Amino acid sequence: EMDTMREMEMYRKEYVGNVSHELKTPLFSIQGYVETLIDGGVEDLTIRDKYLERIDKSVERLLTIVKDLDMINQYEAGELNLKITNFDINLLIKEIIEMLEYEANQKNASVKLQTSNNQSLVHADKQRIAQVLINLISNAIYYSNREKAQITITTSVLRNKVFIEVKDNGMGIKPEILPRIFERFYRVEASRSRREGGSGLGLAIVKHILEAHNQNIFVESIYLEGAKFSFMLDKAVNIS
Ligand code: ADP
Repeated sequence: EMDTMREMEMYRKEYVGNVSHELKTPLFSIQGYVETLIDGGVEDLTIRDKYLERIDKSVERLLTIVKDLDMINQYEAGELNLKITNFDINLLIKEIIEMLEYEANQKNASVKLQTSNNQSLVHADKQRIAQVLINLISNAIYYSNREKAQITITTSVLRNKVFIEVKDNGMGIKPEILPRIFERFYRVEASRSRREGGSGLGLAIVKHILEAHNQNIFVESIYLEGAKFSFMLDKAVNIS
């Protein structure tokens, strides 16, 4: 018992350390730009506009981290009240693909939905599942790392579940770190390579949302070849 307490304390310290590190990076860059502007940079219009834009980006990054932290806290406190309805997961996936089109174009990535049913009704919290899909698909786009990035989202209807898979042909994940990627703030590479828009909490949030639905998230990957994330949702029961 003493061991678990010590372990929890270590984990807590590591967590707080990670949070402050994540916040420090954008804060220091904001500080640097503001100081340069104060020291006369504001007179030069090109510098002024460029730095203001960078400050704006860093502020946005801070907001993303704080919002994700907030979400994680809610999930961990068990304050997650699901709003369960029946909806078409294929339609939701199509909407999210459209929403992420700009990011995908920038990475030259093609994102496609593959399904044998034109409608796949699930029984779940639509907004939270949208969050799951956004996190998985934007990771797939970001970590695509090749010229012909292909991201395929597959849905298949089983007896009483719908199976959803997000597959990419990107950089993949080393087998020894696969079990750790769902931890809060776990980073594979040095902090420099952390995704600009990412908070390091994306997959932790995915895991929480699916656990609240009594489902697991699965991952398979071949390093340097790609990654595949999958989960199931309850199929909507027909009331006809
Ligand atoms: P972030 O992307 O902000 O770092 P996440 O929790 O979304 O945080 O992901 C954790 C880590 O898992 C990432 O830093 C990345 O190393 C790895 N990862 C996630 N998705 C993929 C993917 N599709 N391909 C390769 N690596 C991935």
